[in-house]
Amino acid sequence: MDDLPKRADRLSAPEILNIFEILCKEYPDAKIALSYRNPLELLVATILSAQCTDERVNKVTGSLFKKYPTVESYAQASLTELEEAIKSTGFFRNKARNIKACCELILERFGGRIPQTMDELITLPGVARKTANIVLSNAFAIVEGIAVDTHVRRLAYRLGFTTENDPNKIERDLMNVIPKKYWFNLSYVLIDHGRKICKARAPGCKRCVVRRLCPSSLDAGGKLKAQSLKLKVVF
Ligand code: SF4
Repeated sequence: MDDLPKRADRLSAPEILNIFEILCKEYPDAKIALSYRNPLELLVATILSAQCTDERVNKVTGSLFKKYPTVESYAQASLTELEEAIKSTGFFRNKARNIKACCELILERFGGRIPQTMDELITLPGVARKTANIVLSNAFAIVEGIAVDTHVRRLAYRLGFTTENDPNKIERDLMNVIPKKYWFNLSYVLIDHGRKICKARAPGCKRCVVRRLCPSSLDAGGKLKAQSLKLKVVF
């Protein structure tokens, strides 16, 4: 993940909501890209998605979910076999260890059911607020926060929605300014914009629908337009 410096200014709440509404119109069908059929599959897919594309995760989970259909099957899995099955998602040793330990704990403490609160979910190995938010909102329609992944982090920063670079602080900033009814959608709208236009290395400012409002917008010569905000752009 790129190392974002702390910035001094952020946009006002009305400015942030204006940008968000424009992006919502641009991406009306924004939604999770991971394939899953139940809370367990979503939990596992989300753990696998760390430092990996959703496309790659979906390729791996096609056969993984057949081989390991239940919490028990992961808890009893051979670590070596599980590592092999998820190898192409990267960081596979850690991920396999976390998935197995996670399912052992779900059996031990939660009777084999995926917990449905933030406080419980984040006690599981490999599960922080981002994963918990994704599982709660998509699998149980419970919205306790905003999932901040690498795209949300980059976009929230570039768009001036936050002054922070730590995901938990970014989430807090966003929750303070965006009404709760939009929390679920916010992540997927920002992720779509990040994937299609505001890419990590080469933001497509010229094609961007919010270029006139974005404090990090670059002009044709690649220079910052909003000099008055004294924002440092990181690509
Ligand atoms: S104007 Fe550029 S930096 Fe701002 S959101 Fe659009 S693509 Fe990203």
